[in-house]
Amino acid sequence: MTYDTAHLASDYIYYLKAVQKELRHEAHALRVARELDIRVRIGFSNRCTPEHPDGPLMVVQPWHYGNTDVVRHEEAHILLWWSGLEDEIIAEFGEELGWRVVENLCQFAVGFLRITQPMVDQAVDRYGVSARAVKHLKKVSGADTQTALRRLVYDDPRSCRAGFLLSGRYVAEVAQCNWSLPFSWLEAVDKPARRFPPDANVSFLKLTPSQTLGVCWG
Ligand SMILES: [Zn+2]
Repeated sequence: MTYDTAHLASDYIYYLKAVQKELRHEAHALRVARELDIRVRIGFSNRCTPEHPDGPLMVVQPWHYGNTDVVRHEEAHILLWWSGLEDEIIAEFGEELGWRVVENLCQFAVGFLRITQPMVDQAVDRYGVSARAVKHLKKVSGADTQTALRRLVYDDPRSCRAGFLLSGRYVAEVAQCNWSLPFSWLEAVDKPARRFPPDANVSFLKLTPSQTLGVCWG
């Protein structure tokens, strides 16, 4: 085994970004499939066959056909297979745990396929690496808060960023890229701003009366 799986998520992100650049950052799921010569068919369950002799094939349930995250998820499977990383994952983690890792990575990739690089760059130009930038990404992509938060935090695997979502006093979501938050998932936190050092560049935004989004970097 020569591949170091510590680089798995970042290698996959770089691969996704390279493919998206080739596709001129196309955001529509079906147009991405067409450009990649992936056939999309309707069927009883959602699945894909990257190694099909006639070229990669994806099957989705009729109600998921279209510009949907289910199509993006299956595209992510095909991209992971093409990247060669799927083989590395199964070799390292075995069939059972390996497939869970594959599923998690493909779900993670949906955010990258839905929220393109120009969307992220424009959000950061306008609002910096901040909670407002996450809100902007939600608006332009239609993605949910968690997806938009992860997309911003993990945009560059070499950067130091983190984000979190508070539901009342509780930490409902965390995303950390080379940056350790001063609290953990599900912890109750009062006055979260006081937990950050002055150089954390932390920003907060109230999304609803009970939901607060936070982003920091440094
Ligand atoms: Zn899957």
